[in-house]
Amino acid sequence: MRCPKHIEQYVRQVDDPSAFLAYECDEYALCYSVTCSCGCDEFRICLSAVPSVFAHCTECGNVLTIYDVRLYPAATPGSDTTDSSDRFSQGGHEVFSVYVVYEYGELDEDESFNQDDITWCEVYAFVKGTGTTVRVLSDETA
Ligand SMILES: [Zn+2]
Repeated sequence: MRCPKHIEQYVRQVDDPSAFLAYECDEYALCYSVTCSCGCDEFRICLSAVPSVFAHCTECGNVLTIYDVRLYPAATPGSDTTDSSDRFSQGGHEVFSVYVVYEYGELDEDESFNQDDITWCEVYAFVKGTGTTVRVLSDETA
């Protein structure tokens, strides 16, 4: 699957993300919706300066790693690794559906695909009540 291992059991590919994302998806950048193993798709989102993004399930409390720059081989983590995270909120909303885009580079002929070797990640929070989508993170991994 074209997404990092830590998230593969929680994501489903979105066929037409242009309906709600400004991001241009293609074969190198696929968009996924995130659903907890309990079936819930509403999360509280925590961000840190690492950067990392975690989604806390509002139903069962499970914590999903959406993005953590320390997990990818091509990544250069920032100097701040304190892991203190902030709760993401937007217009008074703190509960969101989560969409994520993982981008991969083009492989040379002698390279084999590594699902953790992403080059870019964008995380979006969808506000069900208003139908708006807010970008939470845009990070160039490599
Ligand atoms: Zn859950």
